[in-house]
Amino acid sequence: MWNNAKDRALRDRAAQVIPGGMYGHQSTALMPDGFPQFFTRAEGTRITDTDGNSYIDFMCAYGPNLLGYNHPEVMRAVRDQQALIDTATGPSPLIVDLAEAMVGMVSHADWAMFCKNGSDATTMALMIARAYRDRRKVLVATNAYHGSLPWSTPRPGGVVPEDRAHLIYFDYNDPQALTDAAKQAGDDLAGIFAAPFRHDTFADQTLPDAEYARTARRIADEQDALLVVDDVRAGFRVTRDCSWETIGVRPDLSAWGKVLGNGQPISSLLGNDRARAAASKVFVTGSYWFSAVPMAAALETMRIVRDTNYLEHMQKIGGMFRKGLVDQARDFGFALRHTGPETLPMVLFEDDPDFRLGYAFCAAAMKRGVYLSPYHNMFINAAMTEADISETLEATGAAFEDIKRNRDSLKPSQVLMAMMET
Ligand code: PMP
Repeated sequence: MWNNAKDRALRDRAAQVIPGGMYGHQSTALMPDGFPQFFTRAEGTRITDTDGNSYIDFMCAYGPNLLGYNHPEVMRAVRDQQALIDTATGPSPLIVDLAEAMVGMVSHADWAMFCKNGSDATTMALMIARAYRDRRKVLVATNAYHGSLPWSTPRPGGVVPEDRAHLIYFDYNDPQALTDAAKQAGDDLAGIFAAPFRHDTFADQTLPDAEYARTARRIADEQDALLVVDDVRAGFRVTRDCSWETIGVRPDLSAWGKVLGNGQPISSLLGNDRARAAASKVFVTGSYWFSAVPMAAALETMRIVRDTNYLEHMQKIGGMFRKGLVDQARDFGFALRHTGPETLPMVLFEDDPDFRLGYAFCAAAMKRGVYLSPYHNMFINAAMTEADISETLEATGAAFEDIKRNRDSLKPSQVLMAMMET
């Protein structure tokens, strides 16, 4: 029987020694009540919490788990490299191998730089766009997530207006709004940021409109600015290339992270020759940016990405999850909006303005061993099997039954309501 006594005890201890008990995307405060905060094991597609409950994990560490947790080949590469050199006075030759591998894999790229988090890569993109022609203005889609630094964090705490003084916001997928924003920037336009598709929290996902993407490319060319695709979340879950390659638009810079090392800490900024001189001008670094172990993991991950059908498998599994869930919802009298690519599904209920149905549904599925998110896109990984999806659908079927039975007594999440008000 599911219980969370140990998790609750750990939360009490954490509240004493960690501000707010936990922070950023690792705070489960926004999840339905009872969602576990702490985990002790991760293997394949499953995570186990401190109370010993095991879950089929549709969050995949918020992206990094591409091939399965504790993937044998990636972990062998990690162990082999650990025995040689990791963080040291200089990088290992793997940094050159990895840069060559990335440039070989991603069509628009002529060079690569490596860092740790997605925020490092997107912030480097911002700096390089500004260094390119010594300009200031950067266009960013409203509500798009590009990281948690002062220029990009979604919450207001600790941020002053000057941090964003030269950002101009526009509506994603709206070529006219983008054109107007570029006009406003005028001859001070440094760069345009684009998510590969709209993947904002609490909202349906929308695929990029080709005209919008071409408009972004045209404006960057006409105004001699750099176009940046932020592939930190979607990279290698859409295609084995930059995600906008699927609509025929090549950026000057693309930011990568999460999946690159299948969980080992590494991210990357890729660029073309146009941006090379600007990239050589900015001073960017970090004590761990040159560590060899995550690079070994990334090289092995890229080999698997290149040589296996991991992506086609994930698309098939994601398609089964989508169809199963939407059919099941209909059978129980609910309507679901299941949006975005199969490999990064976002699931929201129709007629659920305060998300009470979605929250109750995910809470009920969680207690039956399936970890879903009611407000963030989810992630499929290549270790998921058809049997995992059958097991998932058994749990979600029971969860639908639960919320159908209790529909009239469901309440909105207090934490969510408080957050929506700020
Ligand atoms: N860009 C996008 C699109 C992301 O999804 C994220 C992380 N969720 C980031 C940037 C920031 O990455 P990180 O959390 O590794 O700094």
